[in-house]
Amino acid sequence: MHALDAHELYRFFHIGDDETAALRGVSLHVSPGEIVAVTGPSGSGKSTLLACVTGLDEPDGGHVEVAGARLTRRSQACRARLRAANFGILLQSGNLFPHLSVEQNVRFQMLLAGKPDENRIAPLLDSVGLAHRARAFPTELSGGETARAGLAAALACDPPILVADEPTAEVDRDTEAGLIAHFEARRAAGLSTFIATHSRALAQRADRIVRLKDGRIENE
Ligand code: ADP
Ligand code: MG
Repeated sequence: MHALDAHELYRFFHIGDDETAALRGVSLHVSPGEIVAVTGPSGSGKSTLLACVTGLDEPDGGHVEVAGARLTRRSQACRARLRAANFGILLQSGNLFPHLSVEQNVRFQMLLAGKPDENRIAPLLDSVGLAHRARAFPTELSGGETARAGLAAALACDPPILVADEPTAEVDRDTEAGLIAHFEARRAAGLSTFIATHSRALAQRADRIVRLKDGRIENE
């Protein structure tokens, strides 16, 4: 069974009389232990795809299955339950609760998933290069630090599927290597990773690359 299955996803946006077809029949799967990278120019539909596969957004056509369970066209509560059980999600912004420090954000994610583990917090922050920023609040972080703190929060519970939207967009090369090591450790542990990225270094480490252009997959 695939960890994640997307079948013929369509998503349209309307602004006034203008229609944007952000996804036009996108099908893909991610197997357990696989790293799949989604690449493509800005506006090609990467973020829309990630939002649809995690159930944060509903596709207008097609459906998504996570660990064999249908996520699409289910109630908000059902989607939220499937999301909590299966996904760690790193969006391009808005990943941290602004009134909680970095370590409190990580702890809170663990509590939400019912997996509190005080001993994991410091090593996790250390591994994303944020040990010295544990007590900082999101407004006090740089762009790269914010991305890494969000990743630590998304990784807090070793989610079966990590979905990350451009996780290395604002980080230096050493930090990017550290994040890649995280994704590879997930692969070794049989956990899946699905990332939208512009980074060649990151895409090269993926097991598969899905290229999007104008809402369609190019290489199939
Ligand atoms: P990418 O992440 O590859 O840059 P997006 O998925 O963000 O691409 O966007 C795909 C297309 O859909 C773009 O043309 C974008 O302008 C449009 N789009 C995305 N979200 C919305 C929205 N909420 N409302 C209207 N148009 C949107
Ligand atoms: Mg995007």
